[in-house]
Amino acid sequence: MDFLPTFFDIKNQRCVVIGGGSIATRKASLLVEAQAQIHVVAPEICQPLEALVAKNKGTFKKGNYNDSDLDEAHLVIAATDDLAVNQAVSKAAQLRQIPVNVVDNPALCTFILPAIIDRSPVIVAVSSGGQSPVLARLIRGKLETMIPSAYGELASIVGSFRDQVKQKFSSINERRAFWESVLQGPIAELVFAGKNKQAEDLLSEQLKDHTQPKASVGEVYLVGGGPGDPDLLTFRALRLMQQADVVLYDRLVAPQIVDLCRRDAEKINVGKARDKHTVPQDDINALLIKLAKEGKRVCRLKGGDPFIFGRGGEEIDQLAEQGIPFQVVPGITAASGCASYAGIPLTHRDYSQSVRFVTGHLKDGAPDLDWKGLIQKRETLVFYMGLVGLEKICSSLISHGMKPDTPIALVEQGTTPEQRVTTATLASMSEDIKKIEVHPPTLIIVGEVVLLREKLNWFNQN
Ligand code: SAH
Repeated sequence: MDFLPTFFDIKNQRCVVIGGGSIATRKASLLVEAQAQIHVVAPEICQPLEALVAKNKGTFKKGNYNDSDLDEAHLVIAATDDLAVNQAVSKAAQLRQIPVNVVDNPALCTFILPAIIDRSPVIVAVSSGGQSPVLARLIRGKLETMIPSAYGELASIVGSFRDQVKQKFSSINERRAFWESVLQGPIAELVFAGKNKQAEDLLSEQLKDHTQPKASVGEVYLVGGGPGDPDLLTFRALRLMQQADVVLYDRLVAPQIVDLCRRDAEKINVGKARDKHTVPQDDINALLIKLAKEGKRVCRLKGGDPFIFGRGGEEIDQLAEQGIPFQVVPGITAASGCASYAGIPLTHRDYSQSVRFVTGHLKDGAPDLDWKGLIQKRETLVFYMGLVGLEKICSSLISHGMKPDTPIALVEQGTTPEQRVTTATLASMSEDIKKIEVHPPTLIIVGEVVLLREKLNWFNQN
C-alpha cells in the first residue's frame, strides 16, 4: 500500500489553493464541500472560482505565489500549470509539514485525492494510488450505480439511534445483529422509498419490541424488468432483484435478466404463454401472499412496466388488503423501448401530439375496441398483444376512417439483438408479414412517426 486512506476533518480550517483556473475551481469546490475555509492565490482568477470564494466567505490574493501564502494553512493544493511554482509550493509545504497535493504530479504530493462517491455522511473513496485517476473514476462509476442515493439518509437515521441501541444491547454481537436486520430489511427499504418518518417509527418500534421478536412479515417488490435489454433495468430494480429471497418471473422476462437476480434466490417461472396459463393469476396472487407471510423478500419480476398491461394492480391489490408491505418499481415499457430502438419517436412536433397505448388482446376472437375513438388526427397508436389480431386491427382502422396508406411498424423482440422491424402501410401489412416468420413478442406502432425511422434508425442497422 503506497498511501494510507484517511478522512480529514477540515471544517473551518484554512485550506490554500494555488491557481485560479478550472482545475483549481474543482479542487476548491471539494474543499468547500468539506466545509473548509478556502484561501486562493493566483495572478488571475476565473469567474466560477471567484464566485465560489465569495459565496463561501473565502479569501483571494491576487498575485504570484509566495511561501508566506502557506501561513496558518492546514492543507494545500497546487493547481497551476507552472511546474516551478508547483515545485516551490510542494517544497515549502513539506518543510512546514503541511499536507500538500499537486494536481497530476504524484511525486510532489504528500497526499492524493481519491475519486469519491458522496452519500454523506457515507463517503466511499477510490484511489489508484496516483497510477490511473481515470481508472479510479471508472470504478467510481460502477459503485455509484450500486449504492442507492438514499444511503446517506439511512446512515443519518441510523446514527440518530446509536445511543439508544447502545443502551438497549450491552453486547457488541447483539448490537451488530440488530443493525444488520435494520440495514438489510424493511427499515432500509422505507428510507430508499423516501418514507423516512415511517422508517424511524418502525425502528423505534423494533427497538422497543426487540426482547420478544414477532414473526416478521416479508415484503414484495413488484419490479418492472423492461422490454428485454438488461441494460434498461433501473438501479432500484437491480438492487431489489439482488436482495430478494424468492423471484417469481414471467415468460416475457429475458433469461439474462433473471440471471441478474441473487444467485442463491429461489426462482419460480410463473410465465404465461398466450392461451397457456402456466400458473393462473389467482395462484400467483396467493403465492405472493404465502411467501411474504413466511417472512421472505419476494421479487415479482415482470416484463416492461408492471402497471402497463402487466396486471400489476391485481397482484398488489390483495397484498394491500392483507397489510403486506410492497413497493412497485417502474420499468421501461415495451412502447418506449421498442420505439427508441426502432428509431420511431412516439411523439413529434410535426406529426403526433399524443400517443395511446392500446391492448390488441382478443375477446371472442377479435380485439374489442372503440375503433371510432381510436381514429384521431396526429396521434400515435401503440398496440400491445396485437399480433394475432393484426389483420383485424388494420382492417378495422381503415373501415373506421384511417387512411389506408397510414404507416405502420411491427417490432419483433424489441431492444434485443434479435430485434426486427417491418414497416408497411395499414393496407399492405397483413400481406407483408405473411412473407416472414414472426417471432414474438411483437409491438405494433401506427402513425406518421413510423416514417421517421428511415432517418433515425440507429440500432441493428444490419
Ligand atoms: N408490462 C409490459 C407489457 C405486457 S403485455 C410492458 O410494459 O411492456 C405483453 C406485450 O408487450 C406483448 O404481447 C408485446 O406486445 C409487448 N412486448 C413486451 N416486450 C416486448 C418486446 N421486447 N418487443 C416487442 N413487444 C414487446
